[in-house]
Amino acid sequence: MTMVQVADPLSVPENAPEHCPGTESELAGKSEACAGCENQAICASNLPKLPDPSLPLIRDRMANVKRKILVLSGKGGVGKSTFTAQLGWAFAADEQTQTGIMDVDICGPSIPTILGIASEQVHSSSSGWSPVYVQDNLGVMSVGFMLPSARDAVMWRGPKKNGLISQFLKDVDWGDLDYLVIDTPPGTSDEHLSVVQFLKESGIDGAVLITTPQEVALQDVRREIDFCRKVGIRVLGLVENMSGFVCPSCRTESQIFKPSTGGGKKLAADMGVELLGCVPLDPRIGKSADYGVSFLDEYPESPASIAYLNIIDRIKRILGD
Ligand code: SF4
Repeated sequence: MTMVQVADPLSVPENAPEHCPGTESELAGKSEACAGCENQAICASNLPKLPDPSLPLIRDRMANVKRKILVLSGKGGVGKSTFTAQLGWAFAADEQTQTGIMDVDICGPSIPTILGIASEQVHSSSSGWSPVYVQDNLGVMSVGFMLPSARDAVMWRGPKKNGLISQFLKDVDWGDLDYLVIDTPPGTSDEHLSVVQFLKESGIDGAVLITTPQEVALQDVRREIDFCRKVGIRVLGLVENMSGFVCPSCRTESQIFKPSTGGGKKLAADMGVELLGCVPLDPRIGKSADYGVSFLDEYPESPASIAYLNIIDRIKRILGD
């Protein structure tokens, strides 16, 4: 076993600007980033483009993955990575279900901490990079495992992020997976375009969008839904986090983040997407994430756990599982 190295990307030219969508992308030559790029004329032309050599390798690796689910949020701080972790833990609660979590929030990787494996490192063998295992049937890959310490900032430009995501998809020895849950950064950025581009042939089963009830968060979710529609990703539904606060002692519910414009329910109806459920605030969710333990296992009776499990059942039903 040897420590892994991050290679350079394959489909972004060296002279490309920071947010290059990749020369193989549908947006090549047309995205905002392309304005002023010296390659724009050729990228925007209808000339056949060279195939990205990583795509067949990704297709082969992903052939063993039954479901690929993206977790998206318009804003940071709405509980996206916490939701990703709960989803992973809930899928893996069935010992027969093999689950992987891929953390492509490259500049803010929090999945290793939330899952209690922050001190682990990634190793490689002849079959590829080995995921870090939380338990036998729950493997994780994150740039967080490759940083010298949790205090180190990742300051990478688009092409390098693109290359790492390509490597996560083609070089990680995920084995046979029932679910691969992909935690993405907030907003719509290079990372999202890279995932869409690299999984073009393998397919993405759908995206779960995470929000909180305030209008400022909902506005960004509208953009996420628009992004999914533009790139052809099915929206599985919307999850409203921090939806009321249930006191763990007296069980009284209060609204801390008021849904002044109708919250996730109205947004889902307006945008024609399913509201998968609402998860109330529970301070023990944050505490569980800080300690790297499963909130669902620690507090199975909490209204938030019940909400998480209902949402996860709904996702499975929508997927037909
Ligand atoms: S024109 Fe756009 S797609 Fe082509 S290299 Fe430049 S930024 Fe990348």
